[in-house]
Amino acid sequence: MKIYIDGKYYDKENAKISVFDHGLLYGDGIFEGIRIYNGKIFKLNEHVKRLYMSAKALLLDIPLNEKQMEEALLDSVKVNNKENGYIRLIVTRGEGSLGLDPDKCDRSSVIIIVSDIQLYPGEYYKNGIEVITASTIRIPPLSIDVRIKSLNYLNNLLAKIEAKQAGVLECIMLNRDGYITECTGDNIFILLKNELLTPCSYLGALDGITKNTIFELAKQLKIPVREAIFTKYDLYNAEECFLTGTGAEIIPVIKIDGRVIGDGKPGKKTKLLIEKFKEII
Ligand code: PMP
Repeated sequence: MKIYIDGKYYDKENAKISVFDHGLLYGDGIFEGIRIYNGKIFKLNEHVKRLYMSAKALLLDIPLNEKQMEEALLDSVKVNNKENGYIRLIVTRGEGSLGLDPDKCDRSSVIIIVSDIQLYPGEYYKNGIEVITASTIRIPPLSIDVRIKSLNYLNNLLAKIEAKQAGVLECIMLNRDGYITECTGDNIFILLKNELLTPCSYLGALDGITKNTIFELAKQLKIPVREAIFTKYDLYNAEECFLTGTGAEIIPVIKIDGRVIGDGKPGKKTKLLIEKFKEII
């Protein structure tokens, strides 16, 4: 494994950053999780665009332009000779002092790790998963707009701990008004009255690349799809439900807080979308 740090490649053992990096000290940085399918980077441009939007919101200067970043990603895949896998792209504020002041960090650091991906076991894609709603509330945009894909995932982590303690793989987070937002590492869709709905990003959800891919595929399949505002009541009464993410791809949900979704099996439209997704990757 060859890891890219600021323009140079290092073996895993030697890939190190400073303990004074504000990415470590304060979670001051951003990242992207990206897939490689059959030697090609999936939605490369979309991921790079989202990274630069996160950077803009954080006033974080990236020492490469978007084109150079794409080239660095393509080169990392080539150097690692990966046909299928996962890329973790990280930009940290860089090395600074122990104080919070970001201006003490001279230069942000770019890290690219090309590795394998641990998906959920195959049976979950076939049979669906059970999830719960978390009591941990999604951070409101007045605190941090979660469209910034930042290195600070403590809000998600606290909810993930709830999921683990309840013996399920994922959980759904609500915002402070009780509206559904997303899961700890995935977006959520429901099929309600034959319409696919996913929460509006501004309620507290990442603008997922896989979510946007679902919009494209649903349009091709002539399934009505839109962003919406909805609550737990809508989740419980949905005909179908699934989660989307770069790592998880599309995973059917068959039970939420003990309520069976649809007939308790992955829904028809969910299965159609999974098939279509397989075609494009
Ligand atoms: N929400 C959160 C909180 C995430 O971390 C992710 C990515 N793992 C997603 C949604 C899905 O986004 P994407 O489809 O771009 O991977």
